[in-house]
Order: sequence, then structure tokens, then C-alpha cells
Amino acid sequence: MTYISVALRRQVIALANRHCEYCLVHADDAAFEHEVDHIVAEKHRGLTVLANLACACFACNRSKGSDLGSVAKSTEALTRFFHLRCPPKTGPVTELVS
Ligand SMILES: [Zn+2]
Repeated sequence: MTYISVALRRQVIALANRHCEYCLVHADDAAFEHEVDHIVAEKHRGLTVLANLACACFACNRSKGSDLGSVAKSTEALTRFFHLRCPPKTGPVTELVS
């Protein structure tokens, strides 16, 4: 796990205005401190750069983990999580299916 500098952590949290970027809960309304999350986890070659970091509440960060997608309950289709910094992609996540 790459060290994320205090300055970079502060920048991520400030850009999000202290809101979780996934569920939008404000840090003042959360039971635990917000964290800095790799949107694309390091194990999937995600970089420790501002464009790949998000302010996340404890619950969202633990729920997402290092996953890139999940199976949608309604369609049973493997579905990519939205990337906070990229336009949404549509269609099946074929690159995750092997
Ligand atoms: Zn959240």
C-alpha cells in the first residue's frame, strides 16, 4: 500500500468539501472519519494520484474495498462501479470476465 501524503489527503478531502464522494454524507454526519480511497485499487494498477483518489466514508470504503464492479441484483449482469473522475461506461464489463 502506497503512502498517501498528508498534503494529498487534505487536497482530496477539500475537493470533496468533506463529503463522501460515493454516498455524499458529510464528514460531520458520519460516525467515523472519512478516508481517502483509491478509486481503482492499487492491486488493479490504480495510481496514487489526485485523479484516482476519492474522499470516502468508512461504510462506502469498506463496502467497495478493492472491487471494480459487482453483479447487479436487477439484471444479474456484472456491472462496473462508476468512476468518479471518468464518464460512465455502458455495457457489460467483459474485461472482468475471464
Ligand atoms: Zn459514503
